Parts: sequence; C-alpha cells; structure tokens
Amino acid sequence: MIVENIHDVQKKIKEACKRAGREETEVTLIAVSKTKPVSMILEAYQAGMREFGENKPQELRDKARELDFPLNWHMIGNLQKNKIKYVVGTACMIHSIDSVSLAEAVNAEAEKKGTRCDILLEVNIAAEDSKHGFNPEQIEETVRILCRCKNLRIRGIMTVAPYTENAEENRMYFRKMHEILIDINHKNIDNIFMDVLSMGMTSDYEVAIEEGATMVRVGTGIFGERMYPQKDNQGKK
Ligand SMILES: *Cc1c(COP(=O)(O)O)cnc(C)c1O
Repeated sequence: MIVENIHDVQKKIKEACKRAGREETEVTLIAVSKTKPVSMILEAYQAGMREFGENKPQELRDKARELDFPLNWHMIGNLQKNKIKYVVGTACMIHSIDSVSLAEAVNAEAEKKGTRCDILLEVNIAAEDSKHGFNPEQIEETVRILCRCKNLRIRGIMTVAPYTENAEENRMYFRKMHEILIDINHKNIDNIFMDVLSMGMTSDYEVAIEEGATMVRVGTGIFGERMYPQKDNQGKK
C-alpha cells in the first residue's frame, strides 16, 4: 500500500511539474512519518524514499537512532528551546523556526556540536491565530539579524497553509510565499541565497508545486490516516 501511495504521489508531482513547466528534480518529496512506526518507514525506504519528516524532537531522534540508514530527517513541527539538542546534528533541516531567539539557540547548539544547521523560517502566511510563524513583513529584518549566525544556513521559508477541502483556496498563499522568497533573494543580503520553499501537504501539494514549492511534505497521502491516542477524554482532531 505504502509503495503504491508513493508511486501515486510521485506521479502527481511529475504531472504538476509538467503543468508548471518545471523540472521534476526541482521538487523534493518529504514523507511525513510522524506517529507512524519504524516498520512503515522501512517500507517507504524500500520504495526509494530517503527524506522523512517528523514533528516531535524526541520521536525524530529515536527513529533516527533505530533506523541506521542514510536517511534525511526533517524537523517540521513546533520546537521548544529545551528540545533543540535532540534535533541539531540529527535533522538535516529544521523547517519550523518561528522566532529569532529560537534560531539563535539553534545556532548556539550547532556551534557547541561543531556543526552547521540548515533552517527555514516558518511564515504564518494566512495570519491564523492557531498557527506559528513570522508575519511576511518580518522576514527581511529576521534574515538580516540571523545572517550573522555562523552556524546557521538560512535555506528558505516554510508554511503550513490553512486547512481546506479545496486546494485552489490556498493558491494565493503559495504564490505569496514564492514572492517573499524572490524578494529576499533580490536584496543581496550577506551570505543569503534562499533556494527552499517548503509548502504543500497531502491536500494541496499539487497546487503548491504549480506555485513554486521545492519541498512538499506528504503524510496521509503516503502512510494513511494518523491515529492519535485519546487524552483525558478530550481527544484530538
Ligand atoms: C503533519 C504535517 C504534514 C503532513 O500532513 P498531511 O496532511 O498528512 O500530508 C506536513 N507538514 C507539517 C508541518 C505537518 O505537521
């Protein structure tokens, strides 16, 4: 099943690239394996997947330890400062940098470990109260501050677009994200060239690709629905 899902997603990526006049190689598919067991990640690995996304620092660290293969782990979820140690040196990229102080703490941890960390700045593109991320207007000043952090490589920007049944509704947000990336690259800020646009999930990755996404993060479309354990009878949607 997982193998077929991966082939299906890859085919749709290919078709979206074609529609947009883009090369297939410009888009990296990240299989979002959060909450899913290592056995399913192995299945995806055997189908050729090498990029995996996790949203919990310890879960990422534990899975990376258990799966001793050349995999790339992407940290895509909210990150608290006391958990940075689990991902710096393990994750190939942190997509979810949502404050200057968090980025500076990641820089410090990377320095301590003698490494450099690739990061993306998360943008709250639809200004949703429920979402983390910078406002679009804050991106330039943030980049100008963080470009001095020697152990960070600011590779680009990421967004989690609003939940919708109709992917077309997110097209304008994806387009805005692409514009932000182009604008920043035109500013000629020291050491800054951003080449990563991480956007698009199961419900809208084809539209995201048409609007310039270079990384899409697909969970449900590869591994199926996620089951969350009920907590205190409150459940989680
Ligand atoms: C869970 C998650 C995804 C994948 O979502 P699906 O709808 O299952 O494809 C992508 N990005 C982030 C940040 C996530 O937390």
